[in-house]
Amino acid sequence: MNNPFENALEQLQRANAITSLHPDILQILSHPNREVRASIPVRMDDGSLKIFEAYRVQYNNARGPYKGGIRFHQNTDINEVKALALWMTIKCAVVNIPLGGGKGGITIDPKKLSKTELEKLSRAWIRAFAEIIGPHKDIPAPDVNTTSEIMNWMNNEFSKITGDTSGAVITGKPINAGGSEGRGIATAQGGFYVFETVREKIALPASCNVVIQGFGNAGAHAAEIWSKAGHKIIATSDSKGAILNSAGLDITELEKYKKVSGSVIGFPGSKTISTEELFALECDVLIPAALENQITLDNASQIQAKCILELANGPTTPEADDILFARGIPVIPDVLANAGGVTVSCFEWEQNLKNEHWSETMVFEKLQKMMQTETMNVFTRAQELKTDLRRSAFIIALERIKKNITL
Ligand code: GLU
Repeated sequence: MNNPFENALEQLQRANAITSLHPDILQILSHPNREVRASIPVRMDDGSLKIFEAYRVQYNNARGPYKGGIRFHQNTDINEVKALALWMTIKCAVVNIPLGGGKGGITIDPKKLSKTELEKLSRAWIRAFAEIIGPHKDIPAPDVNTTSEIMNWMNNEFSKITGDTSGAVITGKPINAGGSEGRGIATAQGGFYVFETVREKIALPASCNVVIQGFGNAGAHAAEIWSKAGHKIIATSDSKGAILNSAGLDITELEKYKKVSGSVIGFPGSKTISTEELFALECDVLIPAALENQITLDNASQIQAKCILELANGPTTPEADDILFARGIPVIPDVLANAGGVTVSCFEWEQNLKNEHWSETMVFEKLQKMMQTETMNVFTRAQELKTDLRRSAFIIALERIKKNITL
């Protein structure tokens, strides 16, 4: 398994090889400002006590408070959290929001916990890190397996400890608890704005065949948004496997089916396929919307998509990037394609600080404008430098971050 932090550093070095940052800046950005680990005890329903490994990495705050989600996953470890925190630093700069980068996590499969245990664990994460987070210090948010309900518990725990009831310490809260309109679908919606901005430029048809790996928050919302816009979702997957229907999956029905059965597998009219087959399907757009290290040296040469749009963080390894670039398959990188989530998080934070509530129309108008502008920047720069979109996005981000670092 590739170490995601090494991949993230490799991406940084590749961008630096073109733009030549000051060597001191490259050194600074190759290390997180702080990584904090905590052992958090939780009383389980059966009366036993369990200790969980928890993390918060505060990567860089040159452009504003640290910002980034909290992941609950059995494979989460410090290297993953460091990689995700570096990507947050780059991502916030790519979309030009006044925030730095951080990330948190707990090594746990939350599906194995009861709701009471999950709430205790979420509140315990806040107690462990309360001193280092805050509306002007570090603002967590949802990530893989963490929901608006969890953000609500966390925000509530923070206000119990500090007395701060602004809600500005956590984003991704439910709307009735200070959350922003549109935050739930923002990652997928932002990705769609990126896609629409470049669809014709990369010679994609008005109606595309789309393959989506992952049917969680990002993947399922992407399936809804793309299919509503007239595109055809031919295949998708979850942790239990992948399904294909070349005539197109009915996304509304699939969502209902998954809610009841717990998986996309067995959906009427679809055929079960392997993940390898999913990645090798002929399609216009392939959207990885699950975890890191999915497109690698092993499968990059089998990909038959005309374009890849990364809604997941870190799905493509640097070696796979090289293969895809040589094959002329554009990869729209995570730090741009999935930045809609943190952008609407930034709107939520702003609304909480000003005690405002913006309409969904206002949120999406602002989001669309920002995604369009920064997508154009990334594409233009890539053309000028004759490089790939990831290097281009990193270069734009690094130039912005550099301005705020005094040596
Ligand atoms: N977890 C999301 C990401 O990776 C959102 C982070 C946030 O909203 O702060 O971009």
